[in-house]
Amino acid sequence: MHNRDAVFLEDLCPKLGDRRWRKSLHEFTAERCIYCGKHSESIDHILPRSKGGLSITENCVPACLSCNGSKTDNDAFEWYRKQRFYDPRRSMAIKAWTEGDIRLALRLLQWAEPKQTKSIKQSKTRDNEDYSWQVA
Ligand SMILES: [Zn+2]
Repeated sequence: MHNRDAVFLEDLCPKLGDRRWRKSLHEFTAERCIYCGKHSESIDHILPRSKGGLSITENCVPACLSCNGSKTDNDAFEWYRKQRFYDPRRSMAIKAWTEGDIRLALRLLQWAEPKQTKSIKQSKTRDNEDYSWQVA
């Protein structure tokens, strides 16, 4: 009951702390689009708001304008599978994200990241031991 109320409130609440929350989402991925890895300029709703998707972390991912604009109201996973930059590791990351496991999501994203890890400078999300997984 309480949880439900909280979500409801969060959804109704006039964007209190919205900016900060959005910023924190971008920081999770070091300002990278979760779909293609380019610079994230926007927040994408995995389940579109038009279909009842909430503005909560589990449903909102950093995305570049190009991905956000191209996905529009499509199902995120279906849309993503059709993209030429599709990467199953990123797809898994998005899945983990929607399940609230941001940490796992970030590990998967790091795994998918082509050798640009130096710009991921967030110490709290850094897991050096996993770099050995990277495909050359
Ligand atoms: Zn993108």
